[in-house]
Amino acid sequence: MPNIVVVGAGVSGLTSAYLLSKESANTITVVAKHMPGDYDIEYASPWAGANVLPMATKPSSRWERQTWPELKRLAEEVPETGIHKMKSRVYRREKDLQKLRGGEYAFDGLFKEDPWYKTLFEDFRELSKDELPRGVASGAEFTSVCINTMLYLPWLAFSSTSPRPPHGVTRGGSKKAKVDLVINTTGLMASRLGGVADQDVVPVRGQVVVVRNEAPYMVTKSGTDDAEGDVFYIMTRAAGGGTILGGTYQKGQWESQADPNTALRIMKRAVEMVPELADGKGVQGLDVVRHGVGLRPYRNGGVRLEKEKIGGTWVVHNYGHAGWGYQGSYGCAERVVELVDEALNQPKL
Ligand code: FAD
Repeated sequence: MPNIVVVGAGVSGLTSAYLLSKESANTITVVAKHMPGDYDIEYASPWAGANVLPMATKPSSRWERQTWPELKRLAEEVPETGIHKMKSRVYRREKDLQKLRGGEYAFDGLFKEDPWYKTLFEDFRELSKDELPRGVASGAEFTSVCINTMLYLPWLAFSSTSPRPPHGVTRGGSKKAKVDLVINTTGLMASRLGGVADQDVVPVRGQVVVVRNEAPYMVTKSGTDDAEGDVFYIMTRAAGGGTILGGTYQKGQWESQADPNTALRIMKRAVEMVPELADGKGVQGLDVVRHGVGLRPYRNGGVRLEKEKIGGTWVVHNYGHAGWGYQGSYGCAERVVELVDEALNQPKL
């Protein structure tokens, strides 16, 4: 029985453990400094909205394509995961479209006109001109999902619906059994992990405001003029998880505390774009639950999904998912399973 240790209990580690646990021969232990229920700046997963808004630039991208059907199934069939379906709007500003056409725009996969993902969502449609708010050149609408991460992460870890939940979930590494393979899902901290210390991994800081108000739909816009690194999105979590107002996308910033000026800009943008959110009462009509900051584990060169032998032991890396860790989670974890099979079935030299 292969003894597999997953280091990390974010969405990448837990989804990897969940899929690996379906193979009855595997013995799996998840070891992590932070666990579902914790809020920490070194732990990105609880801070995510999280929803599915495809960002991949290539239509052939496997990670998001293979994840969507499973998240949709969970939303439809397993309500205890804290995932629900919600209409989603993507707004494109003319100035961002121009940058996009010129190839100098970071989020081109999501805001592209005629995007590859139009065939992923059954009800994808372009919005008509009279459905667009002021300042928006074009837009699209489709049904996506929003994940209440505080329900979904524990569900992944302890799910009774999984054929066999991971054998152990622990904060320390106390077990003395021989380890056959390690899965490295340490996210941003892969930049400091001994034996890995990947200097291509950097934080992309995301500040959010969580409010009790409910949004009529999820929405994101291709840019804002407010401040460098400011972005705009709104999503309402399932099961009373509040509405997330975003946000920022600040590369290289580690600051863990919320900035009050940024928070005010986030709230103003939200009520301007979706006045119904606060019954037309503006920022005063928002009922704030908390302010939050999470660090997206960005990796120059993209996600690291490969196997490597370190000190005689196989390690399968699965880190560096930036802002798409949930929406790519099943596609990436399926690749982890393949890499584990390759590593463990490889004949000894
Ligand atoms: P993490 O969640 O950071 O987990 C890392 C784990 O490794 C933790 O358990 C940590 O304790 C452990 N660890 C690290 N080092 C060690 C060590 N040395 N020893 C033991 N344990 C260690 N994604 C989406 O798909 N959709 C969204 O809408 C979305 N919105 C986001 C909004 C914000 C504000 C932010 C911040 C992120 C958002 N993301 C979204 C991105 C998503 O949250 C991340 O891509 C994802 O959470 C990364 O998960 P992970 O498991 O790789 O890393």
